[in-house]
Amino acid sequence: MDEILITRLFPEEISEQLGLEPFRGRQIFRWIHEKHLFDIQKMTDLSKELRNELENKAIFCQTEVLHVQESSTSGTKKVLLQLRDHQTIESVIIPHRRRVTFCLSTQVGCPLKCAFCATGKAGFKRNLNAGEIIEQVLHLLSLIELGHRTPNIVYMGMGEPFWNYDEVIRSIKLIMHPLGVNIGARKITVSTAGDVKGIQKFAEENWQVRLSISLHAGNDTLRSRLVPLNRKYPLDKLAEALHQYQQKTDRMITFEYVLLGGVNDSLKHAQELFEYAKQFKCTVNLIPWNPVSDISFYPPTQETCEQFLQFLTQNGLNATLRKERGQDINAACGQLRRIVLIQE
Ligand code: SAH
Repeated sequence: MDEILITRLFPEEISEQLGLEPFRGRQIFRWIHEKHLFDIQKMTDLSKELRNELENKAIFCQTEVLHVQESSTSGTKKVLLQLRDHQTIESVIIPHRRRVTFCLSTQVGCPLKCAFCATGKAGFKRNLNAGEIIEQVLHLLSLIELGHRTPNIVYMGMGEPFWNYDEVIRSIKLIMHPLGVNIGARKITVSTAGDVKGIQKFAEENWQVRLSISLHAGNDTLRSRLVPLNRKYPLDKLAEALHQYQQKTDRMITFEYVLLGGVNDSLKHAQELFEYAKQFKCTVNLIPWNPVSDISFYPPTQETCEQFLQFLTQNGLNATLRKERGQDINAACGQLRRIVLIQE
């Protein structure tokens, strides 16, 4: 029989799969998702007898915090989690004033192998289930200071969310559940390297969850080099899907653009990005590349970044330059896990 993984289930499914009355499923769901408590023995409104019975019947927690690394300059925290099969994933807490953003992983490793990204280097191991995704949120909530507002959630950690579509969607529904963490759709963003099939499905979801596209280049030759997925879904195919998405949902999209020194940071590249982005209701997020040892790119100078930004904004595009946070703790995608793996 398949294992029952409690954290990936909705209240009614918990009752069903454990053979309990409906209110029991809600009780267990609230302990876990509202109170961040995974230990069934501490669920005091269940009888001792029932707790012992359930403990042997199902898995209540699939992840364990192995390591938390905090940046002394920005307060960014990188959290390394271990899964039941001893694989590791990472999540990041990014504070900004009284707000906080959680960056979640959706896969162990990543199959996409973008040229500048640390996660792809370590290869792809497997998809995460929705329980492993929501448990990241629950652990991170226990690690932030009280007084922070409801976190923003970005699916921008390890992995390609749309290559694990069903479990990612399930995890979003768990995050939004009123008996659980109860975070609003507008505070949640899913980021894709441009998987057209995923974008088409996402357009059909009846909600306000945001979509972000990792673009990194406005011409196919360069983009195929940086983001190999572009060979399958080139820029015109991607544009077609994004037009359909916006026609259907009327939602704003974000383009992420990692600035790589001497590679995609000239004014010609800014022009190409501008031409592409201007077709859409969008914001462009520029991110200076976060150095990864043994990947031979370099971040552009501050001046180049600002000129690039200026070109976009002067032409009327909504664009921001993200100040990289947490460089001292290697907060770029995939790095903490890699370093710990190397040290082991
Ligand atoms: N696969 C998805 C989500 C994960 S990557 C996607 O591609 O959108 C999240 C973002 O971090 C992407 O925009 C990715 O290109 C970017 N990124 C990866 N490595 C980086 C690095 N070293 N410095 C800055 N950004 C990086």
